[in-house]
Amino acid sequence: MTNSLGSESNPLRVAVVGSGPSAFYAVEALFKEEGLHVGVDVFDRLPTPYGLVRGGVAPDHQKIKSVVKVYEKISAKEGFRFFGNVKLGRDVQVEDLLARYHQLIFAVGNESDRRMGIPGEDLKGVFSATEFVGWYNAHPDYRDREFDLAGAREVAVVGNGNVAMDVTRIMVEDGEVLAKTDIADYALRALETCKVNTVHLLGRRGPAQAAFSPKEIQEINKLGHVDVVVSERDGSLDEVSRDWVDQQSKGSIQRNVQFLTDQVAAGEGSQAKKVRCRFLVSPVEFLGDEEGHLRAVRIQRSELYLDDSGTPRPKGIDEFEEIPVQLAFKAVGYRGVPVMGVPFDERRGVIPNQDGRVLESAGEPVLARQYVVGWAKRGPTGLIGTNSPDSKATVAMMIEDLPDLEATVDARPEAIVELLREKEIDFVSYQDWQNLDRHEKAEGEKSGKVRQKLSDIAEMMEVIRAAR
Ligand code: NAP
Repeated sequence: MTNSLGSESNPLRVAVVGSGPSAFYAVEALFKEEGLHVGVDVFDRLPTPYGLVRGGVAPDHQKIKSVVKVYEKISAKEGFRFFGNVKLGRDVQVEDLLARYHQLIFAVGNESDRRMGIPGEDLKGVFSATEFVGWYNAHPDYRDREFDLAGAREVAVVGNGNVAMDVTRIMVEDGEVLAKTDIADYALRALETCKVNTVHLLGRRGPAQAAFSPKEIQEINKLGHVDVVVSERDGSLDEVSRDWVDQQSKGSIQRNVQFLTDQVAAGEGSQAKKVRCRFLVSPVEFLGDEEGHLRAVRIQRSELYLDDSGTPRPKGIDEFEEIPVQLAFKAVGYRGVPVMGVPFDERRGVIPNQDGRVLESAGEPVLARQYVVGWAKRGPTGLIGTNSPDSKATVAMMIEDLPDLEATVDARPEAIVELLREKEIDFVSYQDWQNLDRHEKAEGEKSGKVRQKLSDIAEMMEVIRAAR
């Protein structure tokens, strides 16, 4: 009988930092590896698992959230443990984990947002979509944000990806629909007073290059009480796009162009609420009033040109416009934040890696025993499911590296528990989370909601401790 790493007598021990989709797909791939004996401990800085499925996916998209059933099954497997309320860099260090696990996987996602780098970005009323999304989803980091939804009539949403769709839809969505979801209760109350009647959706490229999925833009139109309005000028394809579209095989491009063309024909519509899709416009400045409140966004029109790779890019032309808005959300993409002790590629906002193997820095050698998955690996693109093949690919690298793995590791499963107890860290087990989960669902049921989320870590810990 062999004593090689990953055998029954010498099981592999892996720590995963982060507990969103990419983490769970990595755990699944490890458990599915033929003949591998492995114990996996998943850490999260929050007491709750599931990353963006809990804190990012919009509350009116419960079907997408039902993917947690898959993660629950993975969590029920022997060899899985959850350590919530444990932050890497604060409560434990990379060295602590390297001393207790053979391999580490960073699944820390992209916790921040890209800045646009234009004047006025810090005015009152200008927010990142990340803040709004975290706020309505009861994320502890964003629960204290305040958005003047009752005071604003016109809002700019910059970017036209699916996050822009979520932010727009939640603002114009029917309160009765939201009331049944797991939206944060404070957000529901604030949205019930929302007087926003126009959302200006600002895309810097043309209709053919819109990053939203056809289903997502169409969903807004299907709400019934909102018109998605596209002017003839905004909805027409320019020459560059016409040729480019013909060469594209992605059906979503054609479907978006078709939908937007249909909306040009549909005109203004008759509903009081409007989502106005603008294309080939880039914000160049957020303008404030004397008190530093946002009053307008200044946009510059663009033309498209093909870059060296044949991709249409926007180039500003000498045509400007001011749109009066009282709130603005920048939905121009997420960005990773550095984790103490983990390399970080400042330029790309990710953990530098080669096919999931962490590098000392971009272009430098591989750091032994450290791996990365998800948005922290490839940047903020793709749907939840995209993470499955991506995590599998990283796990394949981990398995490939096993025969050469050299490290002295205290691989006893108790080793990490001893450390956390020594540091007096009140970690949250998977069972603790299940108790909190039950509590939130039961509280939700009382008011006809899917769940009543807690957004305050201290309150979560109170419920967890009471249930122990
Ligand atoms: P995204 O899809 O990359 O969209 C970002 C948008 O911001 C693009 O339209 C981009 O335009 C624009 N942009 C970037 N920099 C800009 C600037 N300086 N000025 C103006 N516009 C700028 O990112 P996302 O919306 O954050 O979504 C992230 C990922 O999560 C995506 O893969 C998305 O599909 C996924 N997601 C899915 C769902 C869902 O399925 N329901 C919901 C939310 C998120 P360019 O194209 O010109 O760069």
